[in-house]
Amino acid sequence: MTDTNGDVDCLFCKIVAGEIAADIVHESATTVGFRDLNPQAPTHVLVVPRSHYANAADLAAGEPETAAHLFHAAREIAASEGLGDSYRLVINTGADAQQTVFHTHVHLLGGRAMTWPPG
Ligand code: AMP
Ligand code: ZN
Repeated sequence: MTDTNGDVDCLFCKIVAGEIAADIVHESATTVGFRDLNPQAPTHVLVVPRSHYANAADLAAGEPETAAHLFHAAREIAASEGLGDSYRLVINTGADAQQTVFHTHVHLLGGRAMTWPPG
């Protein structure tokens, strides 16, 4: 669903609104970053737009500047986490790609050696 006014049933809208607690590490006018509840690396932060878009393509169509802000935010968070320029960004899109929360988000992973291909 694409709904920039927020989705009452959306977990990440509730985190953005402060209705559900999260370990927030970044906030800007358009983006929020918080630690993943089930971290897959020493640093695992989710960077989300404040606006509700189900996936990255919808965000890029609706708010292209905010889509860019996600990547700027990821670099800032990586720097503050001491990752330098070495980290992985993942955007799962669709259920078959293991997207489970349909408020688009960038996984920022770092702090360990990565392997490829991903599972
Ligand atoms: P995805 O599978 O790409 O949709 O990613 C959703 C991510 O959200 C998973 O890595 C979950 O561990 C994470 N997650 C679920 N609930 C919470 C929560 N309340 N706070 C932080 N992260 C969460
Ligand atoms: Zn949402």
